[in-house]
Amino acid sequence: MKSYVMGIDFGSTTTKTVILDLKGKMVASCVASKGSISAEGVQVSMDGAFAQAGIAQKDIARTVSTGYGRRMIDVADQSYTEITCHARGAIAMFPEARLVIDIGGQDSKVIAVSGDGLVQQFAMNDRCAAGTGKFLEALARAVQVPVEAMGALAMSSTEKLTVSNMCATFAETEVISLLAEGKSKPDVLGAVHAAIASRTAGLVARVGNRNPIVMTGGVAKNHAAVHYIEQALSAKMLIAPDPQIAGALGAALFALDEVAKPSAAMMDEEDGADEAMSSARGCATQPCKTAAKLPANERPLLGPM
Ligand code: ADP
Repeated sequence: MKSYVMGIDFGSTTTKTVILDLKGKMVASCVASKGSISAEGVQVSMDGAFAQAGIAQKDIARTVSTGYGRRMIDVADQSYTEITCHARGAIAMFPEARLVIDIGGQDSKVIAVSGDGLVQQFAMNDRCAAGTGKFLEALARAVQVPVEAMGALAMSSTEKLTVSNMCATFAETEVISLLAEGKSKPDVLGAVHAAIASRTAGLVARVGNRNPIVMTGGVAKNHAAVHYIEQALSAKMLIAPDPQIAGALGAALFALDEVAKPSAAMMDEEDGADEAMSSARGCATQPCKTAAKLPANERPLLGPM
């Protein structure tokens, strides 16, 4: 019996899989990190989710994919853009949110969502590492701390320093010279997080700040990134227990719509989202015409995270 739907977010750095039952309850989620755009990562992520839910591929009624590598997923019946799926997943996590800030491994996006759940506008940067998880990864390497530990270290900063280059390569040189001047790792990392926060605030300004704000993507797991962005925006952000799975959750919810109403729920990805996405690459701001409409009261019952 095919009693589940699956969403897969094949990101630049990690693959995320979410499985929902046909009532919308999350029964499994799995994040796998196996290198950039890795087919092995997709398999590990799906297998992890199947094991958690105690089911197999044959139990999946429909699969929707999203993310950088979304068209490379053979098991997917349909694929939608990251903007569409991240907005859907983030608003399912926090229906009251009106702005989604998603910072992943290789892109950062800000999405304005209306009260009825429609994507109104978005801005996206994926042309360079500036303001993305890759920027943080490069600078964690320069300071020689694991990316998972850099946030805690930055939070113990006592001296305000500045990293003015947003290019990861130039910023790395700047970080190394600050360390050579005897500046402490926490202070240097504080400056690195302040730099990413200022970049994010610039992206928010393009779309127009609004509240409440939900932050998603792997960088939302970094407490210093959250702290400095909140400071830059003078606003608190809503963060889910696992903010990294928002895109996969959104994809799974679209799969659920398609199982419930096969013809009504299907969107033609080519008729707006992809066009808007490709013109948005490189920091442009484009209105997104894709109707990421949320059914009323659609907050999935969050199971295992
Ligand atoms: P993508 O969807 O592009 O693959 P993700 O949303 O998975 O990207 O985000 C990956 C980024 O998240 C990494 O580059 C890293 O900066 C950050 N990240 C992931 N896990 C953690 C963690 N536990 N602590 C701090 N940062 C993290």
